[in-house]
Amino acid sequence: MLKDRFGRTIDYMRVSITDRCNLRCAYCMPDGIAPAPAEALLTGGEIAFVCRQAASLGIDRFKLTGGEPLVRPDCAKLVAALKGIGGVRQVTLTTNGVLLRARLDELLDAGLDAVNVSLDTTDRAQYRAITGVDALEAVMASIRAAAGRLPVKINCVAQDGVNADAPLSLAALARELPVDVRFIEMMPVGAGKRRKTVPNADILATIERAYGRTVPDDRAHGNGPAVYRRAEGFLGGIGFISAVSGGFCRDCNRLRLMSTGELKPCLCYADAIPLRDILRGAEGDRERRVREKIIQAVRSKPEAHCFEHPDVVTEDREMARIGG
Ligand code: SAM
Ligand code: SF4
Repeated sequence: MLKDRFGRTIDYMRVSITDRCNLRCAYCMPDGIAPAPAEALLTGGEIAFVCRQAASLGIDRFKLTGGEPLVRPDCAKLVAALKGIGGVRQVTLTTNGVLLRARLDELLDAGLDAVNVSLDTTDRAQYRAITGVDALEAVMASIRAAAGRLPVKINCVAQDGVNADAPLSLAALARELPVDVRFIEMMPVGAGKRRKTVPNADILATIERAYGRTVPDDRAHGNGPAVYRRAEGFLGGIGFISAVSGGFCRDCNRLRLMSTGELKPCLCYADAIPLRDILRGAEGDRERRVREKIIQAVRSKPEAHCFEHPDVVTEDREMARIGG
């Protein structure tokens, strides 16, 4: 079992499999950022190799992310490869949902356990303004196709002055469908530094004004720091990831692997441990060296992020490169 210096068990890894994306959410992948050269991205075999070493040390849940993981043709193959690693309990995916409906059967066949779909609004014009693409219909069709076939969570990043009205229509999806809807505060990472978040307390107040009082929902919903509430008559829960105001680091359970092969101990700081040269170097002791780096990344996890002090945040890479 992997324990960090603060006694936290690290058993979850977010794995970014590409920095490419078919949308252009301005807070995540602003125009003008150059993708990494194709040869810099880890291959499917290299990603599975790192995950096997991580699993041998006690990581038993993986989340594929990106960029947009579904633009990578071998995404379902990777899900199957990770599911086939001994000791792995869960492989999930976070996607913008545009391609999910088309890939759903393939992903379910591969053994995908759950999916998160990012959706910041249900208004077509607003969706286009946020993401740069007129794809709301495709995303809604994906959500409806996936709901009931596997656990679905919808993630919304609320931005002051951009989609402040979205929480009500998004929460309504949890009333209508068996999906959790979660609100994530904007983190001051990459272009997110130049955006203003809406505190989750304000979103909860807005939802309760419209839908009545909610009650705490303590059932386990996933691997992360979300706190859930339930509204009367709703099929799904309403979750809050209070990244900035919530101080959730005491329960941090994760490492991040970037698509270019760096291991990130914490989202907030630029520190990253490169694995690519080891993966592409002499074969002999690759397994041992990758495991040592994973242990080093766990040991170097800081006690907490500093998102409440954006000037101290050292992570300047865009979230599309890190994987969220
Ligand atoms: N393309 C996939 C998607 O959109 O779900 C996976 C990658 S995306 C980087 C993962 C999540 O990070 C999305 O839900 C996105 O809204 C969120 N995100 C991006 N930048 C963020 C920021 N600065 N603060 C909070 N969440 C952010
Ligand atoms: Fe692409 Fe996801 Fe970032 Fe939007 S949030 S630009 S969909 S990676």
